[in-house]
Amino acid sequence: MSLKENLNKVNSTIPEHVTLVAVSKTKPNEDLIEIYDAGQRVFGENKVQELCQKYEDLPKDIKWHMIGHLQSNKVKYIAPFVSLIHGIDTPKLLKEVSKQAVKSDRVIECLIQVFIAQEETKFGFSPDEVLELFSQIEKENNYPSVKIVGLMAMASHTSNEGQVKDEFSQVKALFDTIGRKYNSDVIEMKTLSMGMSGDYSVAMSCGSNMVRVGSSIFGQRNYIK
Ligand SMILES: *Cc1c(COP(=O)(O)O)cnc(C)c1O
Repeated sequence: MSLKENLNKVNSTIPEHVTLVAVSKTKPNEDLIEIYDAGQRVFGENKVQELCQKYEDLPKDIKWHMIGHLQSNKVKYIAPFVSLIHGIDTPKLLKEVSKQAVKSDRVIECLIQVFIAQEETKFGFSPDEVLELFSQIEKENNYPSVKIVGLMAMASHTSNEGQVKDEFSQVKALFDTIGRKYNSDVIEMKTLSMGMSGDYSVAMSCGSNMVRVGSSIFGQRNYIK
C-alpha cells in the first residue's frame, strides 16, 4: 500500500473531532510530502534537530508538534515555530518554554505529560503531581507565555487491553477533573493526546481527541523506539 492509502485507512477509523498527528520521526522528506499532498497538515517529531531541519525543508503551512522528551536547553530552537509541545514533564521545562516564547513574541501551547504506565522509564508527572502543578500555575500565574491546553499520556506497552483501557481512563478522569476546575487565559483543557499505532482505537474509546500515529502510516522505523 502507498503511504496515501495508509493515511486514508487510518483516517477512516478516526472521527472528525479527533486530530491525527502523523508521527514522521526518522522518515525522509519525500514520505512527509506524499501525505502532505494527500491533505495531512499536522506532523509530530521527537528530536529537536530533525524537527528544525524538516521545518526548514517543508511547506510552511505544516503544524509541527514536538512529541518526545524535550531538553530545556533545546527549547530555543523550536520556540519560533512549534505549534504544540506534548511532553512537558517538569516545571523547569515549562518555565523555559515560557521564557523562549517571550523571546519569540509568541504564546506556545503545551500539554502536560502524565505518567501512568507501569514502566519505570517513562517521563511525566504522576496524577497527584499534575494536580499540584495546575494549582500552582493558577495561583502564581508565572508562565506568562505558555498556554496549557491539555494532557498527554502513553499507556503501558502490553497486549493486555484491559490494563491499557484502565490507564487511559485514569488520564481521561484527571483531564475532566482539571477541566472542571480551571478555565482561564493560561489553562484551557481542550486536548487529550493519547494513542499510538497500537492503541489509538482504545485511546479514542477512552476519550482521546488527539492521536499520534507513526508506523501505521509510514511503516516500521529502522530502530526501536
Ligand atoms: C514514536 C511515537 C509515537 C508513534 O508511534 P507508532 O507506534 O509508530 O504509532 C507516538 N508518540 C510518541 C511520543 C512517540 O515517540
